[in-house]
Amino acid sequence: MPDRRAVFFDRDGTLMEEVDYCNNPADVRAIAGAADGLARLRAAGWMIIIITNQSGLSSGKITQVQYEAVNAELIRQLDGLIDAVYFCPDAPANPTHRRKPGTGMLDEASCEHGIDLTRSWMVGDKDIDILCGRKAGCRTILVETGYGKKHLSAGAEFIARDVTSAIAIIQEFPQQS
Ligand SMILES: [Mg+2]
Repeated sequence: MPDRRAVFFDRDGTLMEEVDYCNNPADVRAIAGAADGLARLRAAGWMIIIITNQSGLSSGKITQVQYEAVNAELIRQLDGLIDAVYFCPDAPANPTHRRKPGTGMLDEASCEHGIDLTRSWMVGDKDIDILCGRKAGCRTILVETGYGKKHLSAGAEFIARDVTSAIAIIQEFPQQS
């Protein structure tokens, strides 16, 4: 039985400042306080995983090399506190099980890392993040950074000002043993 706990984070607008189809590491700005918050999660035993839709890869707005460079820069700014990254290049016009709000990436992470999705959390700035987390059985938090203020009615269990506040909610929530 999978028994590890994870916090799944959307990338753009959640862990880093929103940049439309970011393809340049020089444009990467981690959300203030994110690295410190992730360090607290790590110390408390949580796995930390990025779940990101990157349709710019299939539309040609971002190359694979640019995508990797942006990720590497973000992870550097987050002090390396990311256990895994799952990305989906599929276009929004062609919804797939992997592209959020599909749960494919969470299912893969669960299989590959032995994660119990019902003891895990999904944090993001869009309705598709919240829907994905809910369908997978995770608890959900909408952050108000990125596009968050436009998605306040997405049905998240919690709404947080930013990733730091979201992490505080997770840490204060009574955990199932
Ligand atoms: Mg986002």
